[in-house]
Amino acid sequence: MPSTLQPSIAIIGAGPAGLMAAEVLSKAGYAPTIFDAKPSAGRKFLQAGRGGLNLTYSEDLTLFSSHYFEAEPFLTPALKNFTPDTLRSWVKDLGFETFVGSSGKVYPLDKKAAPLLRAWLQRLKANKTEFKMKHTLVDWSEDSWQFETPDGLKEYNFDAVILAFGGASWPRLGSTGFWSKIVEKRGVKLAPFKAANMGFNVKWSKVFKEKFAGQALKNVSLFSQLGELLISEDGVQGSLIYTHSKQLREALEKSAPFTLSLDLFPHHTEQELEKKLSGKKAKQSLSAFWKRMGLNGIKASLLREVLNTEQLQDSLLVSKNLKNFPLHLESSRPLEEAISTAGGVKFENLDKGLMLQEFPGVYCVGEMLDWEAPTGGYLLTGVMAQGKQAGEALLKRLKAQVK
Ligand SMILES: Cc1cc2nc3c(=O)[nH]c(=O)nc-3n(C[C@H](O)[C@H](O)[C@H](O)COP(=O)(O)OP(=O)(O)OC[C@H]3O[C@@H](n4cnc5c(N)ncnc54)[C@H](O)[C@@H]3O)c2cc1C
Repeated sequence: MPSTLQPSIAIIGAGPAGLMAAEVLSKAGYAPTIFDAKPSAGRKFLQAGRGGLNLTYSEDLTLFSSHYFEAEPFLTPALKNFTPDTLRSWVKDLGFETFVGSSGKVYPLDKKAAPLLRAWLQRLKANKTEFKMKHTLVDWSEDSWQFETPDGLKEYNFDAVILAFGGASWPRLGSTGFWSKIVEKRGVKLAPFKAANMGFNVKWSKVFKEKFAGQALKNVSLFSQLGELLISEDGVQGSLIYTHSKQLREALEKSAPFTLSLDLFPHHTEQELEKKLSGKKAKQSLSAFWKRMGLNGIKASLLREVLNTEQLQDSLLVSKNLKNFPLHLESSRPLEEAISTAGGVKFENLDKGLMLQEFPGVYCVGEMLDWEAPTGGYLLTGVMAQGKQAGEALLKRLKAQVK
């Protein structure tokens, strides 16, 4: 790689991981250039803002780190260096307050991503970070990085490169996963992409689907966790499902369909429900009786999805189904629809500073790495922590080269 007094540093991918790496470098006096395929930066970050921008989660760091599953040992150093509190201070430094919601999730006060992103980009530009948008990396060979641009193919050489391509979900926002072919060609080992934080297909009856698609199934419990699901045309989605999506995906990989057990009445025991249900008078209509005990709408219709008319009269069977409702998951929804991506560049390719061991000076950060975490702010904290980690490692390397 060429070496000059002001090294040429490229960051490819203008998502939160790449932007955080740029921040570290530009604060230290370097002038990185951020390349991105899209016309503007941080499109997925802005999309996250549509759901309120859950930045991080307020909890003890050991518990926080455990949400990164198998990647925990690899990511803990980065997370110790960029904790949920660091993230909140960083937001404050940009001029915005955060708050902790009742569940522990942390949001900016206005729950919006656009003002935060605008301030971040302004600060980066003021600190000499250059942006080259509509530059799609299409090839990387030896020291040559080739980009497709509106002015045709352009070739660059860099002293150091931080790759921050994102995963492969929501491709219209920029992270298409195409980059995997470019790095795989160079011998970088990848784990296959999989959907993470996604919905699951369920075969609803036509009647149920027409009536309830788009509605929330509230006050239920899944794996002893209270929450709500969203009924979709094709199945189920929503935070309670996303939280357990890794476990459910892995169960489906072993054998499909997978039947999960949903507690539709988490505040009552089966015995209490059975007692209530057996109090029905012969002349009473079933739906009116159920309604009086709060069993109507989606929950009542779910029962009708699995029990026939005769079975619905059986208070023991109904109470059992209310406490252990069998939801048959057929398969995962496709990666394109998922909130995030599992799989990507394996950690075994990288050193502690997230540099590719086979390519000194080339780093990988963010959702393009082989890790996953549930929604709850773990994704944004994770990618920004990695951006900081690689940015600082590159700083050290550049300083050592000058000596
Ligand atoms: C609907 C939705 C809601 C979400 N809500 C939350 C939330 O509330 N909290 C949370 O923690 N996380 C949330 N996330 C996830 C979070 O937004 C991502 O994990 C995060 O943006 C990933 O950051 P990244 O920098 O690694 O990649 P990205 O943000 O995906 O950025 C990657 C960038 O690389 C560019 N790129 C890709 N390939 C090339 C190429 N070949 N050449 C040049 N540029 C390229 C892309 O254009 C893109 O700008 C949400 C995601 C979605 C889809």
